[in-house]
Amino acid sequence: MAIVTVSAAASHVGKIRSNNQDSGFAGETLFAVADGMGGHAGGDVASALALNRLAEIDGQYNSAVDAEFALQEAIVAANAVLTETVYEHPELTGMGTTLSALVRVGHSVALAHIGDSRVYRLRDDVLTQITVDHTFVQRLVDSGRITAEEAKTHPRRSVLMRVLGDVDAAPEVDLQVMDTRPGDRWMLCSDGLSGVVERDDIEKILKNTIAPRDAANALIKESLDHGAPDNVTVVVVDVHQSFETPEVTPVVVGSAAQPIAFEQTTGRRTTRMTSIPGIPGLRLHPRGPASTEPSHFEPESDDYLDELIEEDRRRSRRRKVTWLVGVLVVLALIAAGLYAGYRWTQTRYYVGASNGSVAIFQGVQQSVGPIELSHVFQETDIPTDALPPFNQRQVENTISADSVTAALEIVKRLSDAAAEGGTGDGTDAGTGTGTSTNPATPPPTSPPTGAAP
Ligand code: CA
Repeated sequence: MAIVTVSAAASHVGKIRSNNQDSGFAGETLFAVADGMGGHAGGDVASALALNRLAEIDGQYNSAVDAEFALQEAIVAANAVLTETVYEHPELTGMGTTLSALVRVGHSVALAHIGDSRVYRLRDDVLTQITVDHTFVQRLVDSGRITAEEAKTHPRRSVLMRVLGDVDAAPEVDLQVMDTRPGDRWMLCSDGLSGVVERDDIEKILKNTIAPRDAANALIKESLDHGAPDNVTVVVVDVHQSFETPEVTPVVVGSAAQPIAFEQTTGRRTTRMTSIPGIPGLRLHPRGPASTEPSHFEPESDDYLDELIEEDRRRSRRRKVTWLVGVLVVLALIAAGLYAGYRWTQTRYYVGASNGSVAIFQGVQQSVGPIELSHVFQETDIPTDALPPFNQRQVENTISADSVTAALEIVKRLSDAAAEGGTGDGTDAGTGTGTSTNPATPPPTSPPTGAAP
């Protein structure tokens, strides 16, 4: 058995707009939706030109990768067609179109997407949105600035970041290959459906309607029931297994189904660029009440600037946070250095006087503010006044020791000197241990401690 598709396409101008700028296509293997923009005579031309160029690749492919490549080539070619058309018809400057397309090859589909039309897949009664909108609000959602719920009502939800048109020479198109299987139902639509009808309602209709034609019509009707403020286009594609391959007649709907008419209205419609400085390709995608006034798709510059300014503010706040984190890191490093320094001081010892007796101190004889960097490590029962005068002065001025052992040796020598009844010959008890006193220079008699350099 072969994999086949049964499909349907439908498009409606909606209840408010005066012309249909959407185009839809359901062919042998190719299915597509294009939603044009560009005001009076641009949007319909753009979507029709793009879709007609794309329709040329409807056919059989050896692999989904081949189909993906064909889609990519056709979209680049369609973009070139738009650019050339604007060159020949300057009154169409600023026209553009979204394009979402899939080509089914066996158990795969190749997808191409630019703009805010959507591709959904219903599988096992669960509707999944496959494409990601190239809209300003989607960017805000992606960066966590607003929620998906807020995006639905965001004042700038119509702003497109990417479209086919005469602005970008190299349009950035999302391409991917996915698997498909019998029972899958694919649905492509313009934002006249997805922006108007809740996702759950779309899912319900796709789940509960058997024939693709009925499903497409029911979705259009649902949009109309919601007021249909925009053109609405739907393509439904069912994947089946079948013994016979049905004969397919491609279906074209929307503006692509009409002959393309260029309105030579150069005098009335000046060449307006709808791109925003600094953001190439940013367009306003008309969605509100229909109007043929150019102002309808003219960017609301102040609003954009406000949004951009707000974005800059957020960026600057992020920079501040980064700066603060940097400062904290530096402070932490300084603290770590101080702590390491303190730890080092605690590996030092000295012998001095405590409460009239010789004592071993741990640390160095310094203080940092209120923090003393030394404390009594061990007291002895050697009264300082039992020492020979020279040793007494040494103790008063403290004797440094590199280790506890060295300190204990000093204490031992002082003890020996004291045992001789303070009549010793003034042997330098601290020799070789880096004594803080200079035997050649009699130290001052006071203060008793803290005189070490
Ligand atoms: Ca639309």
